[in-house]
Amino acid sequence: MLAAEKTFCALFNRIFPDECRVCGQSLQEVSRIPVCSRCLHDPAPLEAEFFCVACRTPFLNRFPLDETGRCSLCRLGMTGFDEVFAYGFYEGSLRKLIHVFKYSGVQPLAKPLGALLARALPRERGFDLIVPMPLHWRRRWNRGFNQSALLAREISRRWNVPMANAVRRRRATSAQAGLSNAKRRANVRGVFQAKQRLDGMRVLLVDDVLTTGATASACARVLKRAGASHVTVLALARTDRRTNLDLPQTVTAAAAGSREP
Ligand SMILES: [Zn+2]
Ligand SMILES: [Zn+2]
Repeated sequence: MLAAEKTFCALFNRIFPDECRVCGQSLQEVSRIPVCSRCLHDPAPLEAEFFCVACRTPFLNRFPLDETGRCSLCRLGMTGFDEVFAYGFYEGSLRKLIHVFKYSGVQPLAKPLGALLARALPRERGFDLIVPMPLHWRRRWNRGFNQSALLAREISRRWNVPMANAVRRRRATSAQAGLSNAKRRANVRGVFQAKQRLDGMRVLLVDDVLTTGATASACARVLKRAGASHVTVLALARTDRRTNLDLPQTVTAAAAGSREP
Protein backbone atom coordinates (compact mmCIF):
# COMPACT_ATOMS: atom_id res chain seq x y z
CA MET A 1 0.00 0.00 0.00
CA LEU A 2 1.31 3.42 -0.93
CA ALA A 3 2.07 5.81 1.86
CA ALA A 4 -0.43 8.33 0.54
CA GLU A 5 -3.08 5.64 0.33
CA LYS A 6 -2.32 4.55 3.87
CA THR A 7 -2.67 8.10 5.13
CA PHE A 8 -5.93 8.43 3.29
CA CYS A 9 -7.31 5.23 4.82
CA ALA A 10 -6.22 6.27 8.27
CA LEU A 11 -7.86 9.61 7.78
CA PHE A 12 -10.98 7.99 6.36
CA ASN A 13 -11.21 5.60 9.27
CA ARG A 14 -10.93 8.47 11.66
CA ILE A 15 -13.81 10.27 9.97
CA PHE A 16 -15.88 7.12 9.66
CA PRO A 17 -15.33 4.92 12.72
CA ASP A 18 -14.41 1.45 11.56
CA GLU A 19 -17.10 -0.27 13.55
CA CYS A 20 -20.38 -1.61 12.28
CA ARG A 21 -23.04 0.72 13.61
CA VAL A 22 -25.44 -2.18 14.04
CA CYS A 23 -23.41 -4.98 15.68
CA GLY A 24 -20.29 -3.10 16.76
CA GLN A 25 -17.84 -5.49 15.04
CA SER A 26 -14.90 -3.85 13.30
CA LEU A 27 -15.36 -3.34 9.59
CA GLN A 28 -13.01 -5.04 7.14
CA GLU A 29 -13.38 -2.58 4.29
CA VAL A 30 -13.64 1.15 3.97
CA SER A 31 -17.14 1.90 2.77
CA ARG A 32 -19.59 4.75 2.61
CA ILE A 33 -21.91 2.52 4.61
CA PRO A 34 -20.63 1.92 8.15
CA VAL A 35 -22.47 -1.38 8.47
CA CYS A 36 -21.00 -4.85 7.95
CA SER A 37 -22.42 -6.99 5.17
CA ARG A 38 -23.73 -9.53 7.66
CA CYS A 39 -25.94 -6.89 9.29
CA LEU A 40 -27.01 -5.54 5.91
CA HIS A 41 -28.34 -8.97 4.99
CA ASP A 42 -29.59 -9.87 8.44
CA PRO A 43 -33.12 -8.38 8.58
CA ALA A 44 -35.64 -11.19 8.26
CA PRO A 45 -38.81 -10.76 6.24
CA LEU A 46 -42.01 -10.39 8.17
CA GLU A 47 -43.71 -13.62 9.07
CA ALA A 48 -47.04 -13.95 10.79
CA GLU A 49 -49.54 -16.77 10.88
CA PHE A 50 -52.55 -14.45 11.10
CA PHE A 51 -52.84 -11.18 9.25
CA CYS A 52 -55.50 -9.03 7.59
CA VAL A 53 -55.76 -9.75 3.86
CA ALA A 54 -56.05 -6.04 3.04
CA CYS A 55 -53.78 -4.06 5.37
CA ARG A 56 -51.66 -7.07 6.34
CA THR A 57 -51.66 -6.12 10.01
CA PRO A 58 -50.39 -9.21 11.82
CA PHE A 59 -52.42 -10.65 14.68
CA LEU A 60 -51.79 -13.26 17.36
CA ASN A 61 -54.83 -15.30 16.39
CA ARG A 62 -57.67 -15.21 13.89
CA PHE A 63 -60.09 -13.64 16.37
CA PRO A 64 -59.82 -10.02 15.05
CA LEU A 65 -60.39 -11.16 11.47
CA ASP A 66 -63.82 -11.67 9.90
CA GLU A 67 -64.77 -14.50 7.54
CA THR A 68 -63.27 -12.63 4.56
CA GLY A 69 -60.00 -12.26 6.47
CA ARG A 70 -60.29 -8.53 7.12
CA CYS A 71 -59.51 -6.69 10.33
CA SER A 72 -62.03 -4.34 11.93
CA LEU A 73 -60.43 -1.17 10.49
CA CYS A 74 -60.59 -2.51 6.93
CA ARG A 75 -64.08 -3.94 7.51
CA LEU A 76 -65.32 -0.49 8.56
CA GLY A 77 -63.65 1.12 5.56
CA MET A 78 -61.46 3.24 7.79
CA THR A 79 -58.27 2.82 5.81
CA GLY A 80 -57.54 5.17 2.92
CA PHE A 81 -55.30 2.67 1.16
CA ASP A 82 -56.15 -0.53 -0.68
CA GLU A 83 -53.31 -2.68 0.57
CA VAL A 84 -50.08 -2.61 2.53
CA PHE A 85 -46.77 -4.37 2.17
CA ALA A 86 -43.87 -4.14 4.60
CA TYR A 87 -40.54 -5.92 4.59
CA GLY A 88 -40.14 -6.73 8.27
CA PHE A 89 -40.98 -5.91 11.85
CA TYR A 90 -39.55 -2.70 13.29
CA GLU A 91 -37.14 -4.45 15.63
CA GLY A 92 -33.62 -5.87 15.85
CA SER A 93 -31.18 -5.17 13.04
CA LEU A 94 -33.82 -3.67 10.72
CA ARG A 95 -34.72 -1.10 13.36
CA LYS A 96 -31.03 -0.28 13.90
CA LEU A 97 -30.42 0.02 10.15
CA ILE A 98 -33.33 2.44 9.81
CA HIS A 99 -31.97 4.49 12.72
CA VAL A 100 -28.50 4.70 11.13
CA PHE A 101 -30.13 5.70 7.85
CA LYS A 102 -32.56 8.23 9.26
CA TYR A 103 -30.99 9.73 12.35
CA SER A 104 -27.26 9.34 11.60
CA GLY A 105 -27.91 10.48 8.05
CA VAL A 106 -26.11 7.63 6.26
CA GLN A 107 -27.88 8.25 2.96
CA PRO A 108 -26.02 5.54 0.94
CA LEU A 109 -28.01 3.02 3.02
CA ALA A 110 -30.96 3.87 0.76
CA LYS A 111 -29.65 1.39 -1.80
CA PRO A 112 -29.51 -1.80 0.33
CA LEU A 113 -32.68 -0.76 2.18
CA GLY A 114 -34.35 -0.13 -1.19
CA ALA A 115 -33.41 -3.69 -2.15
CA LEU A 116 -35.23 -5.01 0.94
CA LEU A 117 -38.21 -2.82 0.11
CA ALA A 118 -38.37 -4.19 -3.44
CA ARG A 119 -38.45 -7.73 -2.05
CA ALA A 120 -41.54 -6.92 0.01
CA LEU A 121 -43.67 -5.99 -2.99
CA PRO A 122 -44.98 -8.59 -5.45
CA ARG A 123 -43.42 -7.83 -8.84
CA GLU A 124 -46.64 -8.27 -10.81
CA ARG A 125 -48.27 -5.21 -9.23
CA GLY A 126 -48.33 -2.49 -11.87
CA PHE A 127 -47.96 1.15 -10.80
CA ASP A 128 -48.20 4.42 -12.68
CA LEU A 129 -46.53 6.56 -10.06
CA ILE A 130 -44.40 6.24 -6.94
CA VAL A 131 -45.04 8.85 -4.26
CA PRO A 132 -42.87 9.20 -1.14
CA MET A 133 -44.48 9.99 2.19
CA PRO A 134 -43.77 13.72 2.54
CA LEU A 135 -42.00 15.29 5.49
CA HIS A 136 -42.92 18.73 6.71
CA TRP A 137 -40.39 21.14 5.18
CA ARG A 138 -39.00 22.08 8.58
CA ARG A 139 -38.23 18.47 9.47
CA ARG A 140 -36.74 17.90 6.06
CA TRP A 141 -34.60 20.99 6.53
CA ASN A 142 -33.34 19.72 9.89
CA ARG A 143 -32.59 16.22 8.64
CA GLY A 144 -31.29 17.34 5.27
CA PHE A 145 -33.25 14.72 3.38
CA ASN A 146 -36.53 12.85 3.26
CA GLN A 147 -35.74 9.20 3.98
CA SER A 148 -38.93 8.04 2.23
CA ALA A 149 -38.00 9.96 -0.91
CA LEU A 150 -34.57 8.26 -1.03
CA LEU A 151 -36.25 4.86 -0.67
CA ALA A 152 -38.90 5.72 -3.27
CA ARG A 153 -36.15 6.75 -5.69
CA GLU A 154 -34.56 3.31 -5.37
CA ILE A 155 -37.84 1.57 -6.19
CA SER A 156 -38.44 4.00 -9.05
CA ARG A 157 -35.00 3.25 -10.49
CA ARG A 158 -35.32 -0.51 -10.11
CA TRP A 159 -38.79 -0.80 -11.58
CA ASN A 160 -38.60 2.07 -14.03
CA VAL A 161 -41.74 3.73 -12.70
CA PRO A 162 -41.79 7.55 -12.42
CA MET A 163 -41.66 9.14 -9.00
CA ALA A 164 -43.26 12.43 -7.96
CA ASN A 165 -43.54 14.37 -4.74
CA ALA A 166 -47.27 14.56 -5.32
CA VAL A 167 -48.26 15.37 -1.75
CA ARG A 168 -47.33 18.20 0.58
CA ARG A 169 -47.33 18.04 4.37
CA ARG A 170 -49.00 21.22 5.53
CA ARG A 171 -48.01 21.05 9.15
CA ALA A 172 -45.65 19.05 11.31
CA THR A 173 -47.58 16.57 13.39
CA SER A 174 -46.85 15.99 17.03
CA ALA A 175 -45.45 12.58 17.86
CA GLN A 176 -47.95 9.80 17.29
CA ALA A 177 -46.45 7.56 19.96
CA GLY A 178 -48.72 6.99 22.92
CA LEU A 179 -51.85 8.16 21.14
CA SER A 180 -54.87 5.92 20.66
CA ASN A 181 -55.95 4.96 17.16
CA ALA A 182 -58.72 7.56 17.09
CA LYS A 183 -56.37 10.28 18.37
CA ARG A 184 -53.78 9.34 15.76
CA ARG A 185 -56.34 9.77 13.02
CA ALA A 186 -57.43 13.13 14.43
CA ASN A 187 -53.77 14.18 14.70
CA VAL A 188 -53.17 13.70 10.96
CA ARG A 189 -56.50 15.05 9.72
CA GLY A 190 -55.97 17.82 7.17
CA VAL A 191 -52.20 17.41 7.27
CA PHE A 192 -51.75 16.39 3.64
CA GLN A 193 -52.50 18.24 0.45
CA ALA A 194 -52.19 16.95 -3.11
CA LYS A 195 -49.98 18.98 -5.45
CA GLN A 196 -51.26 17.46 -8.68
CA ARG A 197 -54.14 15.49 -10.22
CA LEU A 198 -53.66 11.72 -10.28
CA ASP A 199 -56.71 10.72 -12.29
CA GLY A 200 -57.03 6.97 -12.70
CA MET A 201 -53.49 6.33 -11.48
CA ARG A 202 -52.33 3.31 -9.54
CA VAL A 203 -50.09 4.85 -6.89
CA LEU A 204 -47.42 3.29 -4.72
CA LEU A 205 -46.96 5.27 -1.50
CA VAL A 206 -43.54 4.64 0.06
CA ASP A 207 -42.89 5.13 3.77
CA ASP A 208 -40.07 4.02 6.07
CA VAL A 209 -41.92 2.83 9.17
CA LEU A 210 -45.57 2.06 9.68
CA THR A 211 -47.08 2.08 13.15
CA THR A 212 -50.87 2.08 13.17
CA GLY A 213 -51.04 3.17 9.54
CA ALA A 214 -53.08 6.27 10.46
CA THR A 215 -50.62 8.62 8.72
CA ALA A 216 -50.35 6.44 5.61
CA SER A 217 -54.12 6.15 5.60
CA ALA A 218 -54.62 9.95 5.70
CA CYS A 219 -52.07 10.44 2.94
CA ALA A 220 -53.67 7.70 0.81
CA ARG A 221 -57.05 9.34 1.23
CA VAL A 222 -55.65 12.60 -0.18
CA LEU A 223 -54.16 10.68 -3.13
CA LYS A 224 -57.56 9.12 -3.78
CA ARG A 225 -59.25 12.50 -3.59
CA ALA A 226 -56.78 13.74 -6.22
CA GLY A 227 -58.04 10.97 -8.50
CA ALA A 228 -55.85 7.93 -7.75
CA SER A 229 -57.76 4.74 -8.50
CA HIS A 230 -55.66 2.48 -6.28
CA VAL A 231 -53.18 3.18 -3.49
CA THR A 232 -50.72 0.60 -2.21
CA VAL A 233 -48.55 1.41 0.79
CA LEU A 234 -45.03 0.02 0.89
CA ALA A 235 -42.94 0.36 4.05
CA LEU A 236 -39.60 -0.98 5.16
CA ALA A 237 -40.87 -1.93 8.58
CA ARG A 238 -44.01 -2.02 10.65
CA THR A 239 -44.29 -2.12 14.38
CA ASP A 240 -45.39 -5.42 15.80
CA ARG A 241 -48.52 -4.67 17.77
CA ARG A 242 -49.54 -8.26 18.17
CA THR A 243 -48.86 -8.23 21.89
CA ASN A 244 -51.46 -5.49 22.26
CA LEU A 245 -54.30 -7.87 23.01
CA ASP A 246 -56.96 -5.23 23.58
CA LEU A 247 -56.34 -3.68 20.15
CA PRO A 248 -59.36 -5.14 18.32
CA GLN A 249 -61.84 -3.97 20.95
CA THR A 250 -60.22 -0.52 21.25
CA VAL A 251 -60.31 -0.10 17.49
CA THR A 252 -63.93 -1.17 17.22
CA ALA A 253 -65.04 1.12 20.05
CA ALA A 254 -63.13 4.07 18.59
CA ALA A 255 -64.46 3.31 15.11
CA ALA A 256 -68.06 3.29 16.29
CA GLY A 257 -67.59 6.59 18.09
CA SER A 258 -65.80 8.63 15.44
CA ARG A 259 -66.60 7.60 11.92
CA GLU A 260 -64.55 9.66 9.51
CA PRO A 261 -66.20 11.40 6.56
ZN1 LIG B 1 -22.62 -5.61 11.75
ZN1 LIG C 1 -56.91 -4.66 7.78
